[in-house]
Amino acid sequence: STPGGSRVKEEKIFVTVRVRPLSKKEEALKDQITWECIDNQTVLYKTPSQDRASSPASYCFDRVFGPSCLTETVYQEGAKEVALSALKGINATIFAYGQTSSGKTYTMRGITESAVNDIYKHIENTPEREFVIKISAMEIYNEIVKDLLKPDSGPLRLLDDPEKGTIVEKLEEETAKDGQHLRHLIGICEAQRQVGETALNDTSSRSHQIIRLMVESSLRENSGCVKSFVASLNFVDLAGSERAAQTHASGTRLKEGCHINRSLLTLTTVIRKLSIGKRSGHIPYRDSKLTRILQLSLGGNARTAIICTMSPAQSHVEQSRNTLFFATCAK
Ligand code: ADP
Ligand code: MG
Repeated sequence: STPGGSRVKEEKIFVTVRVRPLSKKEEALKDQITWECIDNQTVLYKTPSQDRASSPASYCFDRVFGPSCLTETVYQEGAKEVALSALKGINATIFAYGQTSSGKTYTMRGITESAVNDIYKHIENTPEREFVIKISAMEIYNEIVKDLLKPDSGPLRLLDDPEKGTIVEKLEEETAKDGQHLRHLIGICEAQRQVGETALNDTSSRSHQIIRLMVESSLRENSGCVKSFVASLNFVDLAGSERAAQTHASGTRLKEGCHINRSLLTLTTVIRKLSIGKRSGHIPYRDSKLTRILQLSLGGNARTAIICTMSPAQSHVEQSRNTLFFATCAK
């Protein structure tokens, strides 16, 4: 809470869109490129005449990244500021949202790597403060939470703590000795997720991965007042957005035959309400595991960045529209 109960400034969610290059498979199938990024802020549908009048032909965001953009650029311009706010004591979350094979994992891996580099650069350049970085990681599959740092552990329970909010019981947390150690631990989580992928066909499209860094910091002794803080920084690789079964025309109309992902659907509702602001009323954080776990790092005085990933191909146009619709609602 803030001194004197003064009002917390509501931060807008920073929404960007990344269009990946055509894949080899799409190229082999002679798929057409239908989306173009212009002026850094607009995604343009190239053949709108063939399409329903209700679908807009262009969409504007804080920033859009075309197929030739490097992940480093996406990080610098789409996530860095949010990531580094955790080093000042502000909870932060960076999401990748998009259909399966649109580039979420590719993007989040690079973003996480760049953020880790920046975190240790900042620590080095801030000798007056002491920093401790701890990592935990989990996967939510079918509303079951699993520990990615401790693969043999069973499903984890969520508990409500009066001070810390929702906590994940028995979740492994490791202190990173340095940047190299942290990268090693992140590698373990990513390898663990891939094991799941081969064991259970298609898990990555259905599961959410959260890598959480806890940043603890205090002023070193003899430097006057001791001001310390703890902040969390979350990197979230979401389930394929086709699991939200959200069509651009109907908002939340359910698509037949599509497996609904409760956490993803609830997240989209929470994000939409946060983007509307105070007028939106009750925010249903408690309706899913993902939103309970992230509650304190979303909205309020937390910082949030969403990178929406999409294929440029004509064959994915419907899903890409859904993604752009979500991105528009999140702004
Ligand atoms: P998702 O996690 O959304 O299912 P992936 O990140 O696994 O998708 O990406 C699907 C494939 O496309 C992978 O082979 C990945 O390497 C490739 N890919 C994704 N984004 C890009 C990009 N911006 N540039 C080059 N290749 C990409
Ligand atoms: Mg993936």
